[in-house]
Amino acid sequence: MSILQIPGHPKPTPREVTLEEVRAVVGDCHLCPLGETRTNLVFGVGNPHARVVFVGEGPGRNEDLQGEPFVGAAGQKLNGLLAEAGLRREDIYIANVVKCRPPGNRNPKPEEIEVCAPFLREQIRSIWPDVIVCLGNFATQFVLKTDQGVTRLRGRFHRTGHFLVVPTFHPAATIYHPDWLDDLRSDMQMLGAWLAEHPAGE
Ligand code: SF4
Repeated sequence: MSILQIPGHPKPTPREVTLEEVRAVVGDCHLCPLGETRTNLVFGVGNPHARVVFVGEGPGRNEDLQGEPFVGAAGQKLNGLLAEAGLRREDIYIANVVKCRPPGNRNPKPEEIEVCAPFLREQIRSIWPDVIVCLGNFATQFVLKTDQGVTRLRGRFHRTGHFLVVPTFHPAATIYHPDWLDDLRSDMQMLGAWLAEHPAGE
């Protein structure tokens, strides 16, 4: 079942719920142990009517401190790649699979994701984008429900229900693997070209 489907409902559908309402439901969440160790809950940021939602794994240290996703070096790298692809940060929405930083940047545990994922699902249903960009293995495997890694899946569009899915490398990973940067850039440009060829509403 797609992460966006609700048990008992065969297909995900857009819903008349605002991001503010979703944020109010999340509140000062302590539903999983990550709530005890975070500094700030990182809900997500961006255009509530974005055509593209970027999904990362979880907040890192800077995000945890500032309460915003994709700040610091990874955020700057992402902004530069967006600009090269003809996109602006204010055109997109960014959120993570889990909203609180796993200690030491470890991977989120399955039980933490299970509790937190409904918030992401509601954000996506509220925004109802055309495209979901999965940054890194973790978001990719989670959204596409696959065991395959980004290296095998990137470079082309996938689909889950209504949404096109673009799996690609996490910008932070290219800091340690600079050879991945060209692939990330290429995927962003593929996305930019698709958006230009498919104007909103068509
Ligand atoms: S990670 Fe998600 S479920 Fe866990 S405390 Fe934070 S918001 Fe709540």
